[in-house]
Amino acid sequence: MSDMPEQVLITEVLLRDGLQIEPVLVPTADKLRLAYGLLNAGLTSLEIGSFVHPERVPQMADTDRLAAELCAGESAALHTLVFNERGARRALDAGARHVRIIVSASDGHSRSNAGVPTREAMARLEPAVELLSAAKVRIEACVATAFVCPFDGETPVGRVVDVADRLRDFGIQVLHLADTIGAAGPWHVRRTVTAVRAEQSDIPLGLHLHNTYGMAAANVWEALHLGIRRFDAALGGIGGCPFAPGAAGNIATDDLVNLCHHAGIATGIDVDRLVELRDELQALLGRKLGSALAAVPAKPVPLRTARTAPVPG
Ligand code: ZN
Repeated sequence: MSDMPEQVLITEVLLRDGLQIEPVLVPTADKLRLAYGLLNAGLTSLEIGSFVHPERVPQMADTDRLAAELCAGESAALHTLVFNERGARRALDAGARHVRIIVSASDGHSRSNAGVPTREAMARLEPAVELLSAAKVRIEACVATAFVCPFDGETPVGRVVDVADRLRDFGIQVLHLADTIGAAGPWHVRRTVTAVRAEQSDIPLGLHLHNTYGMAAANVWEALHLGIRRFDAALGGIGGCPFAPGAAGNIATDDLVNLCHHAGIATGIDVDRLVELRDELQALLGRKLGSALAAVPAKPVPLRTARTAPVPG
C-alpha cells in the first residue's frame, strides 16, 4: 500500500453532473440544503452548477443564484462550469472563485457537447479563460472522453496529450481526465495517466469516472496505485451526460468514500452523514439510487480508519 496516497480530495458533482440529467427539476432551496449538507459531511470541494444556456440544460438554470448564495460565505472550493465568454461573465457576476472548463478529446463528442470539433471548442474558450484569469479565478480543466468516445470509439492517447498541452497554456491548476461514458478499464487509466504525466508532470491530475460497466471502482484502484489523489463522484451514483449516449451515473461518492476508508486512505468525509444525505436525495428524486451502499440495509461497517480531518479543497 506504500504507493497509495494517504488522503484523497473528492469533488462532489451531484449538483451539476448528477442533477443535469434528472427528469425532476430540483428547486434551488433543495439544492442549497444538499450543498450545505455535503459541506457539513466534510466535503471541501463541490461542483454546484453550469453556466450553460437554460434551454439546453434546464436543470442548471439557477446556477447564478446558487453560486451567488454559496460562494459568498464558503471557504470550500465551489466549482461552476464555463463553456464560453458569456458563461465566464456570469460566473464572475455570481462571485465564483473556482471554475472548471471542459474540452472533449474526441471531435465526435465535442460536436455533440460543444457544437464544434475539439480545436474550435478550445479556441472558443480562450476569451473566457482570459477573463477568468484576469480576475484571478482558479481554473481547473476537464478532458471529456479522455479514454473512450461514444461517437469515435477509443480515444488515441496522443489526442489527450495534445489537449492537455493546450490546456496547460491556459494556466489551469488541475487537469481532470474524464471517462465520460464509463467505458474505460484500468488499462486505459494506466496508459493515459502515464502518457499525460510524462508530458505534464507539474500539473496535478484528477479522474472523473462513470460506472456504466461497473468498472469505476477498479479504475479508482488503479489510479490510487498511480498516486492519483483527486476524484470526482456523485452521491448515490447519479448523473450522466445529456450529450453522450450510453453514459450511466458517476462513481457513487458513498461507495468511493467507503473504498478509500477500507484502504486506509483519509477523505475527511463522515460516511454516516453522507449516507443520511443520500437517503434525503433518494426521497427528493423519488427513486432508489444505484450506489452499492444504497442496497445495503445497515450503515457501513466501521472501518479501521476514522480520520475526519478536512482535506483542503
Ligand atoms: Zn460526468
